Amino acid sequence: MRTRDEAVKSGPLHPVARLPQEWLDALKARGERAFSAKQVFSWIQRHGVMDPTAMTNLPVRLREALAEEGLGPVGEVAHVHRSADGTRKLVVRLKDEATIETVLLPSVSGPGSAASEDADAAVADDEDDEVSTDKREPRVRVTQCISTQVGCAMGCVFCASGVAGWKRHLGPEEIVGQVLIGRTLLDEGEELRNVVFMGMGEPLHNYDATARALRLLTHPEGIGLSTRKVTVSTSGLVPEIERLGKDFEGKIALAISLHAADDASRSALMPINKKYPLAELMAALRGYPLPPRRRITIEYTLVSGKNDDPTEAQRLVKLLRGLPVKINLIPMNPIEVSPLGPPQWGRVLAFQKVLTDAGYTCFIRRRRGDDVSAACGQLVLLGAKPKVKGFRKGDAPDKASEPPPRHS
Ligand code: SAH
Ligand code: SF4
Repeated sequence: MRTRDEAVKSGPLHPVARLPQEWLDALKARGERAFSAKQVFSWIQRHGVMDPTAMTNLPVRLREALAEEGLGPVGEVAHVHRSADGTRKLVVRLKDEATIETVLLPSVSGPGSAASEDADAAVADDEDDEVSTDKREPRVRVTQCISTQVGCAMGCVFCASGVAGWKRHLGPEEIVGQVLIGRTLLDEGEELRNVVFMGMGEPLHNYDATARALRLLTHPEGIGLSTRKVTVSTSGLVPEIERLGKDFEGKIALAISLHAADDASRSALMPINKKYPLAELMAALRGYPLPPRRRITIEYTLVSGKNDDPTEAQRLVKLLRGLPVKINLIPMNPIEVSPLGPPQWGRVLAFQKVLTDAGYTCFIRRRRGDDVSAACGQLVLLGAKPKVKGFRKGDAPDKASEPPPRHS
């Protein structure tokens, strides 16, 4: 149920963000049948219908009452940018005209497919510990990346959202609304399988809305995603990591944007490290109540000259020792507002080698949707555009894991 904190901070709860029990309470108070509560929740969360006039199995007077109390679409799709690799970036215009972005990342799955090759596209790579018994035709499995804020207050120097600054939190209806809208735009044969909180914003800075969105996304009568298929990525807000662990018993997949293994380098890249330095962050990770056989994803954006030295990789090996992790290395996607960029490809491979030699599972994350600015850190605000700049001369991108950037 809604906590006092939640009510004080965010004002009235939008009907799209109501959980089944809240629908039951709200409709009972109006003298409606309990069954109508189930129907409304299902229209919204299962069928993605937010307009009550389209809820045809409800009595007309109830449809009118719901419209009056504000049930309706939370935003509209302003643009769909389709990348050559199948990635789609949806620009969603919210009620107050603010725009946010959400990305659909398809990857082919099913018997005999090469799903695992694509697994590093997001953190959907927990497939590596899942044995598929699905005998149906190969489906196109989609990971959706969603935003939690307009802008971001954390100020990471390599990130377009961070450089642009914080505008406002998203409400839970706007967070879950991205998935409701996204599902209506899936292509034939596509299936939403994973949701990653890796778009614009810091999910744990907007904890209450994020937590409610998690409950909605994983509710069996709604979208019904399994908790292990939903990943929250954070720059390291220690108290909220602890809270997330408690509130969801460690079942929500956790990704940590680490990006450095010593405090000086990390603080230079991510100001949040001054508030929650590595020792505190690592203690929170060690205390996260991970279920058996699950791992925390460590995201490490490689920034040339800042955190890409092999000695930093050795420090990382020590820092992570004993923690069940998988590591995603992400060569920095250049952004126009910063002179920073990715290392030479050889340095990326050398960094990876230190980690794999030490026994860690370590992917180099492919850039998806690069030609539509949908890659990480390119979910932009204020006209901050990704730089038209690729790997430097002499680099030799390995096609399987890092295609050279394409820009149209
Ligand atoms: N705020 C959260 C989630 C959104 S950012 C977080 O920081 O974890 C999602 C991921 O994209 C983070 O790991 C972030 O560090 C990474 N990222 C941001 N800008 C990037 C860039 N320019 N190149 C590569 N990765 C970037
Ligand atoms: Fe915010 Fe994440 Fe970007 Fe840092 S990387 S500024 S926390 S969105």
